[in-house]
Formats: sequence, C-alpha cells, structure tokens
Amino acid sequence: MRKWKRTISIGMVAALLAGAVPASAESAGTEVSMADNSTGTEVSIAAGAEETEKPEPLKSVRKISEDEIKAMNGGADVTVWQERDVLFVDGPCTEQAILGEADALAVAKSVMNLAGEDERMEFVPDRTITDPDGNRYYIFQQIYKDTLVWGGAVKVITDADGKMLGLNCSVESALPETDTEEGITAAQAEEAVRKYMRKTENVSVRVLPEYTSLTILPVNLKFDIESEDETVHFVWTVYTDHPSGAEDSAELPFLAHYVSMNGEYLYQMPAIVPGDDAGKAGYDASYVFEFMESVPYTGYVDLSDGSEMEVSVDVMRDRRTGMYYLGNLERRIVVADCYEFLYNDNQVVMEYSPDNLEWDQVGLLSLYNYCRAYDYYKEIGWLGGDGAETPILILNNFCDGRHKEVNNACYAGKVHGFQCFVASKINDLSQCLDVLAHEFTHCVTGTVMTYNSYMNDYGAINEAMSDIQGKICDMMADDGKRDNWILGADSMTPVRSMSDPHDFQQPEYTWDLYYYPAVSTPTAVNDYGGVHTNSSLLNQIAYMLIDKGGMKLEEARKFWFMVDCAMVPKTDYVQLGTLLPWVLRMADMTQYGQTLENAIQAVRLLEKQMPEHFDEDRALLKVSLPATEAFDTNNWVMYIYSLDTDLLKERLMKVVDGVLAGDYSCLPPFMEELINGDLDKRVEMALPILEAAITLMGGYNEMMGTDSDWGQADDGSQEDSGEQDALFPWMDEDPADASDEMSEEAGRILEEIETWLSELFEDVLFIGNGSAGQDGQTVNMVVRPGRTIPVLMHAVFKDVSDTPDQVAVAVYVAGKWFDLTQLEADAVAEDASQKLEEFSEEDFLAIFAGTDVEQMLADLMAGKYDKFSLDGILDLLTVEIKPGTIKELDSDGLETVVIPPPSEEEAEIEYEIVPGRKSRPKTEEKELQETEAQTEMAA
Ligand SMILES: [Zn+2]
Repeated sequence: MRKWKRTISIGMVAALLAGAVPASAESAGTEVSMADNSTGTEVSIAAGAEETEKPEPLKSVRKISEDEIKAMNGGADVTVWQERDVLFVDGPCTEQAILGEADALAVAKSVMNLAGEDERMEFVPDRTITDPDGNRYYIFQQIYKDTLVWGGAVKVITDADGKMLGLNCSVESALPETDTEEGITAAQAEEAVRKYMRKTENVSVRVLPEYTSLTILPVNLKFDIESEDETVHFVWTVYTDHPSGAEDSAELPFLAHYVSMNGEYLYQMPAIVPGDDAGKAGYDASYVFEFMESVPYTGYVDLSDGSEMEVSVDVMRDRRTGMYYLGNLERRIVVADCYEFLYNDNQVVMEYSPDNLEWDQVGLLSLYNYCRAYDYYKEIGWLGGDGAETPILILNNFCDGRHKEVNNACYAGKVHGFQCFVASKINDLSQCLDVLAHEFTHCVTGTVMTYNSYMNDYGAINEAMSDIQGKICDMMADDGKRDNWILGADSMTPVRSMSDPHDFQQPEYTWDLYYYPAVSTPTAVNDYGGVHTNSSLLNQIAYMLIDKGGMKLEEARKFWFMVDCAMVPKTDYVQLGTLLPWVLRMADMTQYGQTLENAIQAVRLLEKQMPEHFDEDRALLKVSLPATEAFDTNNWVMYIYSLDTDLLKERLMKVVDGVLAGDYSCLPPFMEELINGDLDKRVEMALPILEAAITLMGGYNEMMGTDSDWGQADDGSQEDSGEQDALFPWMDEDPADASDEMSEEAGRILEEIETWLSELFEDVLFIGNGSAGQDGQTVNMVVRPGRTIPVLMHAVFKDVSDTPDQVAVAVYVAGKWFDLTQLEADAVAEDASQKLEEFSEEDFLAIFAGTDVEQMLADLMAGKYDKFSLDGILDLLTVEIKPGTIKELDSDGLETVVIPPPSEEEAEIEYEIVPGRKSRPKTEEKELQETEAQTEMAA
C-alpha cells in the first residue's frame, strides 16, 4: 500500500533538469544559456564567456595511456575503472601539482582517450569545491555545439597541496550526429506532446511555446535493457501545464516533456516553473534582506503528537517600518507565500507580524529546521544549499494554482534567484529535522553532482544521500543520543528505516524482496524506477558504518559529503562499490575499511545484473505484459499478492497439533486462561470475549460490506484511515478502535487475537509491487518462494494523486488471468464495501467462464494434477514457485482484464484558503508558570 504514500517525495532535481542552468556556471564566469525560442536552435554563451578561453580541442593535448598512469605511480596500485559510461582513476594521472582550473582541465583532457575519445568533446569549468580536509574537486561540464550536455561532467580531485588524488568522469563520447536542422521543429515537438497526452493520458494540455527549447540529454531511445549504449541526443524540451493541476497530488504545477528529434515522445518530468529566465540571468534575490535587522523570537508550537515545543530562532525586523518578517538574516533564509511566488509573478510575500508575538507554525518550524540544516553544512564549510550562499526561499502553504493545498515537502530547484523549498500545512513534516535536512541535501547533491537524472540508480543514490545526511544531522542535533534510524521519526507518518528496510517495503540488498529493477520510462507512479525504494541499499551502508563500525557522526557527515563531491552524474551503485572505499581512504578513515567492505557485500552493491538463481528464500516472478494500450503509459503500478499456502498450512498444523497434544501455548494467552481456568474465571471472561467477538464481527462485516442488521460498525471509522488506504479502507483498521465503549478486558483480548493472527500470518502474505522494466514489457518481481496464488491488482493513476483512477484485479488460475472485478477509483474511495457487495455469485462464476471446466476435470481425472487430491486441486489453483528460481507467468487473459481507463471530464472546483496554526509567544506569564513547574518538580 505504501507505494502511493509519497509524502516526502521528490527532491526536485527534475526542476534543474527542466531547464535551469546549473548555478555553478556563474562561478566560472560562464553562463551557458539554453534560453531559446521556438523558431530555431540558437544557443548563446552569455557575457563573461569571452574571458574564458574557448576550450582547446582534445587532439592538441598529449594523451596518456593506462600503462603510463600506472608507471607514473611507481608501479603502485592504481586502478583505471571504466564501466557504464564512467571512467574512474583512483590515483594521479600527472606527476605535477595541479594548481588551478587550467592544470586540472589539461589533465582531464589527457585521459579522455580512456573515456572514449571524441574530438568534438569540449568542457567548460563549472566550479571548484574544497572539502573539510582541504581536498579540491575541480568540476567541468561537457558542452557540445555550445549546448550543455546534461550528465557530461569531469571531476579532477587533488589534495590541499595540489597533488592529484584521482579523476572521476561521465562524459558523452557518442555525440549526436544529427544536425539539429534535420530534426523536427519546435512546433512539431509541441504537437507530438499534445498528441501523446491526448492519446495515452486522455487529457489536453496547454503548451507554453515560449519555453520550448533544445537540449542534449542522455537518453536511450531504443529502450533496450541489454544495450548499454545510452548515448546522448538532441531533444526538444516542451513545457505544459500539469493536466491535473496539482490537485490531490504531491506534484508540481508544470510538466517538462522530452521529444526526440525524430518526433518520438520520450518522457516527462514535473517542474515548478517552465524555464527560469530570471535565474538564468543571474537575478539577485538579496533585495529581500535590505533594511532588515535580526531580532530574536521564542515561542511555542504544537507538535502533531500533541506535545508542545519551544522554538527559538532569529527573525527579521524592517528598520524603516518596524514590521517583523519570518526570515533569518544571518543565513539568508525567508518564508514566503507559495501562491504569490509561483502563480503571481514571482512575488516574494513574506510572512509578517506587527509585534513578533505569533507566527504561522509551519513557517516557523520550517525556518527553524532549515536553519539547523544550514548550520549542519556550515560546520563543514558549505554555505547554503548550493555552497554559494544563494538566498533560500521557503514557500509556505504549498498549493496549486487554485489555492488547493498540496501535500509535500520538497526541494524545488533554483527559481528566480532563490534556492526554493516547499512546506505544506497539511502534513507535519516541518517539525522533522531529518526530513528538512533531507530536502536541503537534495540541493547540495544537485549542485555538486552538476546533474542527476533522478531515475533508477541515479535517483536512488540521490535520495539516499539525502536520507543519510538528513538522519546524521538529526542525530547530531540531539547530541548523538538519538539512535533511531527512522526517516520522518518525528512525524506521525514515518517513511523509511535505514536499519530495517523491510519494515517499509524496501530491499535489504540488490534483488531482494521489494527491489525495484530499472525502468525505461520513469514516472511518479513507478517512483522514477524506485528512487525512494532502492535508496535503502546505500542507507544501510551508512547505518552499518555508524552502528557496526563505530564511525562517529562528525566523521560520517564529512565522509558522505566527500562521496557526494566525488560522484559524477552517471555514478551508479556499481561504481559506488569502487568509489566508496577510495573516498574512505581519501578521508583517512581506513579503520572503517573492513566494515565498509562487509556492508558493500551485505547489500550486494555490485550485483546489478539480474541473477540467474536466487537465494533459497527468494524467487523471481516474471510476467510479460501484453502490448495493449492499458500498459502503454507506465502510469500504473502492478501489485502481486501471494499467499504462501504451504507456510500457512504449516502454521495452522502447528496450532492444531499443539491443541491436540494439550499444549495451549500456541493459542492467544486468553484462550489458555479460559481453558485452564476454573468456572468462575470462565464466567468472568465470557462477557469480554463476547464483546471482542462482536467487535471483530463488526470489523469483518464492514470489510465484507455485508449489510446485516447486527455488528455493523459505524462508518465514521473509515474516515480516519485516510485517503492513502482508500482502496482497502479496512486494511489498516484497528479493530480495537472500532468501539470506544469496549471494556478494558475485551480490548486486551482483541489485542491478543490480533498479535496471534499477525504472528500466524507473518510472511504468509507477501505483497510485491512492480512495473514494466527497461524493455517496457516485462515485470520482474522478487518474491518469496512457495505455493502462491498470484492476485494482480493493476492500479491506474491518471495523475500522480494518491488515489488510483481505476483498479483492475485479476487472479491467476490454471495458467490464465481472470477478472475478479473492476472498480472505479472514485467509487472505491467513497464506498469500497458497497462495490464489493455488488459483486455477485455470477461474477464469481464468470471468472471461470472462459475455462473449459470439463477439460479441467478430465485433466484432473487423467492424473495431470496428481489425481483428484488436495494436491491436485492446489496444483490447479496455485502456482508453485520453487526456491531460488525464476517463474514466468503467462500473460493470457491480461489483455482483456486490464483495459485502459475511460476518459473523464475534469471538474472545476473552487477551494478556500484555510489559515494555518499560530505559535504562541513566550510571555512572562508563561515563563513564570515554567519556573513554578520546575520548582515543583525539584521539590
Ligand atoms: Zn528526497
């Protein structure tokens, strides 16, 4: 169920991808502008470029070979690692000191022959970063025909004295041959977008032609999993509005679509603004701090768990007017209204107060926690989100263009001269330092990596860097006393566990349960290829280094920052397997070398290729999808529910055997009491048991939608389970909550029954979810082996909302998929039980309508199913997945079971603005109360 709970979702590196030039270009005085018009492909290198010498073509630099590099190191161990578009040399490639960008560029060029030389490869300086140990990272970006090649970057790394330590790069050597004039025009690209959206998503989008521009992207046009040739191409970027608005979604108001030069629609990414002219023009946002002075504020806020917290943070006061503003002058962070900034000409309307007594709670907590995240990085010399002290804007009351609140907390990229983060009052994430430091780190990673395609491994690594630094920041803020590894620990809805990934349906190792194989078409619905899922691999390494290896929090902060600095856009998990130990040596932390090695082994970081054999307690379920429209969009998630019938049988038999042998410890404790107790005890327990039974039946009836006259639980309880569980409103229902008036004893009995049931069924039901892999056709899901009943739930999300628009449920029986039911999501959300109620006996029979029952019986009699026995029937009704194997299911029947969603008219709805909660001032009276309370306690 968790897949569509995307509360902390997207670090919108996508926004960077969606057109913003890396902020870093400014530092080198080179502004590569991709601003463009729809008529041509003119791309300019703006002012400042004349001073930067046009990079020399590669052929004029003397190339050095791998052998020379090795010889240079006096025969010492140096590895030239070249795989998957990444070239990594873990030692010097020059004997001379590197004392500046020019030296670094010359060295980089001298080894480009090892990275697949192309004479057209050119580079511009991006920035130079110095880490806490004084090591330098000279970063260059690749350009081609004066256009940035996204994902093309070189990092030359030296120590404080200029001694070269290594080089990491992912460059594009197979540059597009197509002359851009031979491809489709901007107008044709825009039409292709309209057509695609109409056809596959049934919506008309509004194109914003003024932002259509040409760019170079690494895209695999063939979508072939086996081929590693993910070369770069010129592509058109076309911006449109987000068809569903941001209504009910955790997304941004615009979409950036990518269309190849031959007119093929590639994919889309959400964007917060369509292009960012002001940002590109080096717009200075500092004006918001003019005439301001710092003043302290201390107040109280209510946390979502009902407790109260004191918050102290410096805010700003306008010296001219005396008005107070929610912002921090020292760190250059302000809180402003989201709507005004995003939908009303980028106006920065700051939260203000005439008396500095009360502030919007979410705004205040966000400011407070982003200040703490800021300080966490400042302590290692990194200033602001991007290291360049760019002002930070917290967009409070995140909403869509109609003021409808959007549930999210994310980094939204650099917009209009600000590094933007969004905060929403409909979640409690602003009170979580780990979450806000996570978002802050997205800005850091996006900056130091120059580009992150935010999909598959690349996105998972990005997410993990944020989780890791977010958690370390949170732990350090608490003097390291806190040792829980839960992300969003201070929220009522935590999202991940770094130490126990399975608790949140994340894999413990590559190709473990829940592992998300790479996708070819990243969508919000397939989590861009598992970016919030596979992040657990790296998260666990960080956890093990600290928890098992004893790495100190300060050391961990530095180490992971250095890893961030050393990574290149194409760094995947496999490269990290080589890069992490190298960075550990560079950071002089070799005492953790063994732990790191063990951790890399444990999470199987290097084992990216799908194994041919799985562990004994794992297996792979494979389904090749029919090539129908329903599966075309990738805006769907497939869930496979498998019931391990063998395990269930084993568990049940244990209970039966126990009871037969007179050992009742296998039953809930109250049963034992009941059986062994005397008559009085039994009488005493009768009523609570009856009460518990009625409550259970109530829950059961609600679940089954029976409208019997007794035991019907009131409907109010469904409200509480929240939207995310709307599909199965009863799933997370706690029967103990069903009746407020239940006696304590009955509550205990219910709890015991629940614990007993959950132990009994633990591991028996496995829910996996997946989507089409890189071939766009095959779903590969790691599952538990055993005899299973595959039930497939195909949930279609037309937008990225939490509620699916359509659900089809199919069960796999006798080698074929059968339609269980088709449910309209809206109906599901409103009244699932009623829908299920309508599901009649005939529907059940219809499941088998296409089956030749006579033939089945004949097969049974003929012994095809091991005679007419329980095993025979099981053979027919279940699928046996043998340990360690790959089981392929036929897709027969899927093409008729799962049909594309019907088109739907969008309703215009007006929303009201609901004010957020306010903090309370710290008054003298309050202080007095506190002193009294303390005195009392002391007494
Ligand atoms: Zn994130």
